[in-house]
Amino acid sequence: MKQLLSGNEAMALGAYHSGVSFATAYPGTPSTEILESFSQFKGVYAEWSINEKVAMEVGMGAAYGGVRTMVSMKHVGLNVAADPFFALSTTGTNAGIVVISCDDPGEHSSQGEQDNRHLAKMAKVPMLEPTDSQEVYELMQWAIKISEEFDTPVLFRSTTRISHCKSIVDITKDRPAETKKPGFMRSSAKYVMVPSNARVRRTNMEERITKLKAWVEDFPMNQIIRGDRKLGVITSGVAYQYAREVFKNASFLKLVTTYPVPANMIRKFASEVDRVIVIEENDPYLEEEVRMLGIKVSGKEFFPIIGEFNPEIVEAAAVKAGLLPAPVVASKPPPAVQIPPRRPQLCAGCPHVGPEMILRKLGFDSSIKPSPVLRPLTEKEMVIAADIGCYTLGVYEPLGALDTCACMGASIGHAIGMEKAGVPNKTVSVIGDSTFMHSGITGLADMVFKQSANTVIILDNGTTAMTGGQGHPGTGMAMDGSKGPQVNLEKLCEGIGIKDIKVVSAYDMAAIEAAIKASTAAKEPSVVIVRGLCALKFKVKNTSRRVDPDLCIDCRGCLDVGCPAIIIQNDAVQIDAAACVGCGVCQQVCPQEAIVEMKS
Ligand code: SF4
Ligand code: SF4
Repeated sequence: MKQLLSGNEAMALGAYHSGVSFATAYPGTPSTEILESFSQFKGVYAEWSINEKVAMEVGMGAAYGGVRTMVSMKHVGLNVAADPFFALSTTGTNAGIVVISCDDPGEHSSQGEQDNRHLAKMAKVPMLEPTDSQEVYELMQWAIKISEEFDTPVLFRSTTRISHCKSIVDITKDRPAETKKPGFMRSSAKYVMVPSNARVRRTNMEERITKLKAWVEDFPMNQIIRGDRKLGVITSGVAYQYAREVFKNASFLKLVTTYPVPANMIRKFASEVDRVIVIEENDPYLEEEVRMLGIKVSGKEFFPIIGEFNPEIVEAAAVKAGLLPAPVVASKPPPAVQIPPRRPQLCAGCPHVGPEMILRKLGFDSSIKPSPVLRPLTEKEMVIAADIGCYTLGVYEPLGALDTCACMGASIGHAIGMEKAGVPNKTVSVIGDSTFMHSGITGLADMVFKQSANTVIILDNGTTAMTGGQGHPGTGMAMDGSKGPQVNLEKLCEGIGIKDIKVVSAYDMAAIEAAIKASTAAKEPSVVIVRGLCALKFKVKNTSRRVDPDLCIDCRGCLDVGCPAIIIQNDAVQIDAAACVGCGVCQQVCPQEAIVEMKS
């Protein structure tokens, strides 16, 4: 049977057909759809974990317990999960366990670009890299086999294009009738990593890699494709597809096992061609592996080290390297129709707009124009440390309300650090409900412990909005949408030791301002929970607003809201009634009370 599947869908199906019946993940682009697809199969357990570290630990528990397991996340998620991932490499497993890292070359949806192939090598974990959805499907089955045969987790590395592009998959298998039965095999020597046991396991890890090095030499999906012997291209992942398109006649070594690499196969390939180049996105990972074998090779002196490839980029680099003649430029084709550039913006009626407008007002000197140039703060300004989520878009004008954002959960630590380092300005941390659950709780506990006079503003929109609206413990919403027990944010903060907790509506600008003013004036740790449902996920729709042209003085102050429903038409401010969800924030901003309900 043939099916058109994205790489992420093929991962889910491949895992299911390999007998995987347990999967955990934390949502993050480009990995989110793996768990969503897997959860659709009958007889499996799938859950969003509170963060990637917990996803890995829960997955380890299931695999130790004899159940084939998949753990998936985006590349930066593996940083969060690195501790248990490395520990899992040491203990090994009982049932097969595959760890999926979806890397994001080009940072389409990430705070950083990183090449997680290094992590496989560092953790001494075998790594597989597919070049299309068919290989994704087949490799997932190999991953489980390798995991069980070599007593190891397997790192399955995808990138954005592999994860999101669809291609035909020939589905050759079915769900095995007999999946592994749950059951833990007691062995403190294997699973209890006190130093004396860990030292023995360390030796096992080296032996495992030695065996894998021999095994990958005969792995059938590493392929030599013979063409013109003048040029030999070594490549992996999606870069293989681009390279094949650009170098139509060259010889290719397509590597699917990229840790450990098949050294003898590489040597053999190199001996058959006049010149060897490596084409790979991001770091010179394979290039260094090939060079370490004593083979003369080139790559990153021509091919970019930053960003995602496409055939045009590969071709331009090949021309620069003298590997291809410069293309003859025929008459210039007419320019393609360009979509007008659009800045990322919050949705109409987004509950983050109100608090960010207030933060802009309270925290920034409005007489100073926003500028990318570093400048010292004036005495009354506040430092607004933010986190990862939709609200991070508040860094863009017209809101322009944020000062820092580094990684999940960092905003509270940033504020503590600034205060304790002696930065004289007041600090405020902005974090979403989901990110707070992911890794803000520990920062808050530290804030209490240090008695840092920081104010944490939790923007509670009742979901994990940025990745499509997944549940988390603060929502109590399970994978299938059913409601279960819910962690109470206020009580959680209280239990951690916060005495000053205020809860306000995300659409009541006066209440938000009063709460933030009072909390930031106090010399103790405080939390302001700003609550309002995500307009997109919950399809909130109240009475739309309109602009009364008799009252409007065209001051354009309402444009500062940055709401996509507020538009300029016929040189006048208007509200698109179809887009407006009636949140009322613009109404509170207008100095003329010119914004009114549609019915009035
Ligand atoms: S803020 Fe009010 S008065 Fe100013 S342009 Fe908007 S609707 Fe008109
Ligand atoms: S009420 Fe105003 S701010 Fe809210 S969605 Fe409508 S136009 Fe946008």
